[in-house]
Amino acid sequence: MSVATRRRARVRVEGTVQGVGFRPYVHRLAGELGLAGYVLNDSQGVLLEIEGSSDAVALFLARLGPDAPPLAVLESLTVVDAEPIGADGFEIRPSPHGERADVPVTPDSATCDDCLRELLDPSDRRYRYPFINCTNCGPRFTIVRGVPYDRPLTTMAGFQMCEQCRAEYEDPRDRRFHAQPNACPRCGPSLSLLDSEGRAVARWDAALAAAVEALGGGAVVAIKGIGGYHLACRADDDGAVGALRARKHREDKPFALMVGTLVEAARVVDIGDAERGLMSSPQRPIVLAPRQAGAPVADSVAPGALELGVMLPYSPLHHLLMRDFRAGALVMTSGNVSDEPIAFRDADAVQRLGAIADLLLVHDRPIETRTDDSVARVVASRRPLFVRRSRGYVPAALTLPGGTLRPLLGCGAELKNTFCLARGSRAWVGHHIGDLENYETLESFTEGIEHFERLFSVAPAVVAHDLHPEYLSTKYAFERDGVELVGVQHHHAHLAACLAEHGEQGTAVGAIFDGSGYGTDGTIWGGELLVGDTGDFRRAGHVAAVRLPGGDRAIREPWRVACAWLTAVGATPPRALRELVPERKWAQVAGLVQSGVASPLTTSMGRLFDAVSALCGLRTAVNYEGQAAIELEAACDPHERGRYPIGLESIDGALVIDPRELVGVVCADLAAGVAPGVVASRFHAAVAAVTVDACSALAGANGTDIVVLSGGVFLNRRLLERVCAGLDERGLRVLTPERLPIGDGGISYGQAAVAAQRIARA
Ligand code: ZN
Ligand code: ZN
Ligand code: FE
Repeated sequence: MSVATRRRARVRVEGTVQGVGFRPYVHRLAGELGLAGYVLNDSQGVLLEIEGSSDAVALFLARLGPDAPPLAVLESLTVVDAEPIGADGFEIRPSPHGERADVPVTPDSATCDDCLRELLDPSDRRYRYPFINCTNCGPRFTIVRGVPYDRPLTTMAGFQMCEQCRAEYEDPRDRRFHAQPNACPRCGPSLSLLDSEGRAVARWDAALAAAVEALGGGAVVAIKGIGGYHLACRADDDGAVGALRARKHREDKPFALMVGTLVEAARVVDIGDAERGLMSSPQRPIVLAPRQAGAPVADSVAPGALELGVMLPYSPLHHLLMRDFRAGALVMTSGNVSDEPIAFRDADAVQRLGAIADLLLVHDRPIETRTDDSVARVVASRRPLFVRRSRGYVPAALTLPGGTLRPLLGCGAELKNTFCLARGSRAWVGHHIGDLENYETLESFTEGIEHFERLFSVAPAVVAHDLHPEYLSTKYAFERDGVELVGVQHHHAHLAACLAEHGEQGTAVGAIFDGSGYGTDGTIWGGELLVGDTGDFRRAGHVAAVRLPGGDRAIREPWRVACAWLTAVGATPPRALRELVPERKWAQVAGLVQSGVASPLTTSMGRLFDAVSALCGLRTAVNYEGQAAIELEAACDPHERGRYPIGLESIDGALVIDPRELVGVVCADLAAGVAPGVVASRFHAAVAAVTVDACSALAGANGTDIVVLSGGVFLNRRLLERVCAGLDERGLRVLTPERLPIGDGGISYGQAAVAAQRIARA
């Protein structure tokens, strides 16, 4: 080969390219094309140089992105030509001294197709081995104890690789090169079945077989997964599901299901291509979709809900379990007693789950960080919408547009808490912590923050927090020494999170509807129309304020909010509701509303949905957050086309959504015998229409065409899709959160985005 046709190129690759088998992939590709050079990880990502015939170099560059390993996410690829030096041989070089990987830990990933094939191949040495994995799949974040991400700093440290596994691990051409959890039946974790006292009753395949048989017979089995324990039982058996509910003290919050294949999933829920894509992605979230008529699933799995949450197997153990079970879907709900965090430590699991489960299917690979299943759905035919972002997604970095000049921490909200660390242009949103209301969750919050600070070497100089002084996350912020504090209004954080995720730095209108958030005036906000950007905002409008009689009690008892609205319009309760609430209690609460005693003002949209649900006699007390609204949505008559009147007027420069007339008509309709499903439908149409009107008016007045829809109320598919369609029709650009939860799980990232802007503008 003449030197003239020889070419050398230097390639810089950025994105998620470390810990995902990218270097061995480059090594293989270069080898295949006969190219010389090297590849290494450094603080910016991957750096490589290749040299050979210019045709081969061109081919290499053409294939580099498209053929990359499944877990790699290439954000940028820059090629610069260099002088050929006549190199031969290709090597994986160590990282330059003193340079630290920027993305040392990747999310846990579902079993890849290659591993699945081996798992089911009787001639493979890992045939039916429940812990098979490779560089392209397996546990990651949940087993990491520290950095650098290397076997001794994972929960695999106690397992000594056998010779064969070691050889795979050290061979750059092997699919298991540097796969930290690499293991086989000879050297790796093993499976056991315990009785409810924690005594081992079977091991290996016999353990699995006994668990499968027990499940078939209607037993409840705790199963150790990737980020914690599940509680499983057959989904088609009302008795089994009922027993699980009773023992878990969970009245009617929906349970998630696991099915073996997409074909089975389609039998249970109505899914299109977008849902199938999400469900079978390496992240394998629980996907919420409308329940199929005649689905072989007991009603008690998700009472009163339109949708079922379904996931596909994501660990080799799940694959074996679903294949052997053969009897359709299994309930797979988090292994905890109601309101406690999911169990993930083995000793603790027996103690806490032994009273719920008949048997425990366990293994001896410890879980370092509790990580719940992620939950998502697809709305408006294509937008992914997260209810919970955790296992499979965490700790993948998000971009922080504009970056931050100082490392920072966003402490998040109180319910469905997450935290967020940011440095430079990257933000790491932590796993779902849950409701910060007990010692266990507070502990996982503080431990989680410390863990992420080490993993991503972020030493926060600025700490952003909610304005609510009583949130435990706010108190945590106040107790951090030597940091600058930035208070961020709750609904502004919702708006900023969505804008930042979409890389949008301009001004937008935000319709932020949720249950509650502390306002800048000390009242409880929750039906907010904001105008602003990631740095600043103005409250341009809101739902008319009403009393919340009894404060938090009114959140658990929606009839109290109904009473507040009825008192505000001077109407009497509809019969359905009157029959559900004793007259004496009603009079007491009406008294609270009139006097204002223990009854703070709120502009919450979530509470308005609660009130209408109660007026319809659907739900007077809730057993889980959002239940009244979920059941109101489920009750909607799909054929009803009517819409209630709802006020929208400008008062002192603020656009006020006034539902008083609506509440009056709802009562009149119900008194006249109109079905609750029709009322529910007309109510949804009214809220959607007024939201569209308000947003387009504000967009016009403020010279923007961007509208952000966020907050937990928009988990309501009917509402969200109608508002999206209405705004689309008016030529406005609608942004919804697509990578982070639309509820309070997205708040921490929003706080980080706001704080970063404030630092930059200071
Ligand atoms: Zn694999
Ligand atoms: Zn081995
Ligand atoms: Fe919120």
